Amino acid sequence: MNLRSGRRQFLQAIAATTVASGTACQNRIDPTPSSSGGASSSGGASSSGGASSSGGASSSGGASSSRGGAGGTDGSASGTASQTTAGTSGSGGSGQPRLTSPLGVALLGLGKYASERLAPALQLTKHCRLKGIVTGTPSKIPTWQAQYGIEEKNVYSYDTMDALLDNPDIHVVYIVTPNHLHAQFAIAAARAKKHVWCEKPMAMTPEQCQSMIDACAENGVKLCIGYRLQHEPNTQTVIGYASARPFGAPQQVDALSGFNGFGPSDADVWRLKKIPGGGSLFDMGVYCINAARHALGEEPIRVSRARQWTERPNLFAEVDEWTEFELEFPSGAVASCRSSFGENIDSLNITCASGSYKLEPFQGYTGVRGAASDGTQFNQTIENQQARQMDDDALAIIEGRDVLVPGQEGQRDVRILLAVQQSAQTGQPVRLA
Ligand code: NAD
Repeated sequence: MNLRSGRRQFLQAIAATTVASGTACQNRIDPTPSSSGGASSSGGASSSGGASSSGGASSSGGASSSRGGAGGTDGSASGTASQTTAGTSGSGGSGQPRLTSPLGVALLGLGKYASERLAPALQLTKHCRLKGIVTGTPSKIPTWQAQYGIEEKNVYSYDTMDALLDNPDIHVVYIVTPNHLHAQFAIAAARAKKHVWCEKPMAMTPEQCQSMIDACAENGVKLCIGYRLQHEPNTQTVIGYASARPFGAPQQVDALSGFNGFGPSDADVWRLKKIPGGGSLFDMGVYCINAARHALGEEPIRVSRARQWTERPNLFAEVDEWTEFELEFPSGAVASCRSSFGENIDSLNITCASGSYKLEPFQGYTGVRGAASDGTQFNQTIENQQARQMDDDALAIIEGRDVLVPGQEGQRDVRILLAVQQSAQTGQPVRLA
């Protein structure tokens, strides 16, 4: 798939729908064809992490109790608004029935982002609805059921999620766990023939990303990465400037992303641990990387000047509190990036041959805004970023279009994240193939 044409197709379709009013844009990122294929804080309640990933799933035609209790899911329609209709296209999956709006979404991983942002946003969406949950923490279930009216038959544990295969209420599983679990749960959801939405960063390695891309392709479902900002209109204006070039060629990007967080009571939080994919680079630096690539409209060829450090070694024994690095691009442009868990920073500046523009904040949940050196204001507003993102992705699935942020996009950033780590460890620049 060509991401440039996919993005253009996506944005044209969005412009023609009722969902978006963002500035249409396209960028010059033109990746190799089919390389095969968000501020936070603590939280960190742990639960079991064992994904079930059966190879294709059991399909009992009868009741399939999702968490071993009462209720049960059967393969027949249950009369909800999110039912499928007969047809052959529009689901994004070969041979799968056409889907109608609204899609049913199951959130997997009921932590801070799912409970404070995604579930509330799903009350605002037009084309998708919160219909199910997948959790390793049974004590959360009654609260979620009561708050969002989630039926017993739409409640799953990580060990029972292969039974999603038999559940026509659920069309999408949205993975919102710590980063090291994204791949296994995404693959399990794809094998249950559910479209997969997955939070950033997509996974821990490019190989994991590839296995997610492959699993979704093999099972005829779409994979969307939760880069909410690519759906945000002022960000889309800046992305559009990469090709429109109103101030000449972009030469320098400065991207800062971080928050001052964590204290002694957070010692067990996964964001401070290496294996789950913690650290400021993976959590916040990924915004800098994604923004730099799209603000310039090209792919970096080298990482240099990378360094990682902490000023609180007792707390940051395993992961970086700060990371700084530069990305070098084929045009000669350079992106200087910094991520942090120790300071509040949130800005994106682009300096061009004959002017400049910026977004500040550039990655906040609300209020993304900015201005250009000629006085142009980037001040479009939307009700809710996550609702926009999920409606965009749902509509693309329903209409059988390319999604705005497919798995290949997340994979590119993960490859760069690892190169930054390598460069910081060796003190040497790292070439990106
Ligand atoms: P969190 O710690 O608040 O929630 C994580 C959830 O995963 C919890 O419900 C926890 O019980 C569950 N979990 C399952 N297995 C676990 C394990 N082995 N260890 C710990 N928890 C486990 O985290 P969060 O802030 O909600 O972040 C979740 C994901 O969402 C991350 O990938 C993060 O990068 C992403 N996120 C994205 C944005 C954005 O703006 N796009 C913002 C915040 C978080």
